[in-house]
Amino acid sequence: MNSVTVRVPAKVNLQLAVGPLRDDGYHDLVNVFHAVSIFDEVTATAETGMSVRVEGESADQVPEDGDNLAIRAASALAGHAGRSYGVNLVIRKAIPVAGGMAGGSADAAAALVACNELWGLGLPLEDLMEIAADIGSDVPFALLGGTAVGTGRGERLTPLEVSGTFHWVFALAEGGLSTATVYAECDRLRRATGEQTPWPRVSEPLLAALRAGDAEALGAGLGNDLQPAAVMLKGSLARTLAAGREYGALGSLVSGSGPTCAFLAGSEAHAGELAASLKEADVARDVIVAHGPVPGPVPA
Ligand code: C5P
Repeated sequence: MNSVTVRVPAKVNLQLAVGPLRDDGYHDLVNVFHAVSIFDEVTATAETGMSVRVEGESADQVPEDGDNLAIRAASALAGHAGRSYGVNLVIRKAIPVAGGMAGGSADAAAALVACNELWGLGLPLEDLMEIAADIGSDVPFALLGGTAVGTGRGERLTPLEVSGTFHWVFALAEGGLSTATVYAECDRLRRATGEQTPWPRVSEPLLAALRAGDAEALGAGLGNDLQPAAVMLKGSLARTLAAGREYGALGSLVSGSGPTCAFLAGSEAHAGELAASLKEADVARDVIVAHGPVPGPVPA
């Protein structure tokens, strides 16, 4: 086999409860991940060295050197296998870059799956998950897909039971936000209020809404502790979120560390209407309709 292509979805966080800052610089989380139908594609082709090319949505903002998460993942996999394998990766981006939808993590997960196949390693998912956790906190979920709750720094995953399909609208912002900067701003805001940060707990009403496939209850249960920090760093998000509420979203929140905003709709038709209203209101760089949950990386 000379070439393998894998398609991998974006994620939105349905609940992101951020606990106290740990000694290692990370935060303990309760992170309810939900994979949605916005896909990047990664093609791995056998080659002597390691190289990557990025095409599509905001490709110029993705590094094409050793900082690229997909190349880091491929190198870590080769290291794990104890061989000096080579690969050329071509990443076709549709997931917003630095948008809070784990696009870089998705590409890393796709690279692991594609190279595992290309190099004929046959490693089981558990091994890929371990390598993934070293690449980034969101990479293990990107391997799994569906809907799952992550604890620790988000890498310890339990899949969740979900009925039916939920319909989403995503409002993309101009420019990205650095995850580390948003967490640091969250810490700063917390220090300023002086309140003690409670230990993060999963929302039982949210889990019940997912099990029942109840979009209205899910909308009411969405929550993101990073949202105040993201809005502080990008004030325009307040207007985007308000517009979604005004146009009848069942729930509105910043996706992960932002700046993409996510709006839950009651049906596919409702999502289409909501997207049209948000476009008309001119509160976003672009507006995308998607659904979830969807499976993790699959051969394209
Ligand atoms: O794990 P990853 O490299 O994606 O994390 C990026 C940054 O996000 C970390 O350097 C850290 O500042 C922040 N982070 C955190 N707590 C987590 C996950 C990420 O503070 N649980």
